[in-house]
Amino acid sequence: MLDANYIRDRIRTVPDWPQPGVQFRDITPLLQDRKSFRVLVDIFVHRYMDQQLDVVAGIDARGFILGAVVAYELNLGFVPIRKKGKLPFQTVSEDYELEYGSATVELHADACKSGDRVLLIDDLIATGGTLLAANRLLNRLGAQVVEAAVIVDLPELGGSRLIAQEQIPLFTVCQFD
Ligand code: 5GP
Repeated sequence: MLDANYIRDRIRTVPDWPQPGVQFRDITPLLQDRKSFRVLVDIFVHRYMDQQLDVVAGIDARGFILGAVVAYELNLGFVPIRKKGKLPFQTVSEDYELEYGSATVELHADACKSGDRVLLIDDLIATGGTLLAANRLLNRLGAQVVEAAVIVDLPELGGSRLIAQEQIPLFTVCQFD
């Protein structure tokens, strides 16, 4: 797909960041370029415009950038899934494993209602831990993730396979090996 290549070409790989051995896929050039940012948002808006969604959930922090714009264009509300300790009201929280240690994501307890159809957005899937924890949060409020959607899949890290095993639909615009 021409659009997917256009997006992929604007993602910068930064070697050894944030630590040696990591190839960080940096989406800031993609956001910075007005044409690629528009192409990106349009891909998501066209995909979800007829899906009878109730709300868009975006994951801290890069998922907020895309998620909020897509929610606005779909005429939906936006709810943030945040790292631990950032949300001021009553929360539900879920822990997940990282390569070294663990992390926690949180969601306001009134962020969605039972039966809500949710689009879950982040920038990238690697091991899948973040998206799976976010999905559990939404499920705890009785909401259903209609699709999880990211710009970049790193399939070698296994996350997209895990998401498929959990039978969560996943949309990815491009991949890096
Ligand atoms: P996972 O939980 O799937 O292992 O990691 C995905 C999460 O880590 C996402 O929230 C994403 O923002 C962040 N992340 C991990 N590696 C990268 C990367 O190379 N580039 C970007 N943009 N985000 C990353």
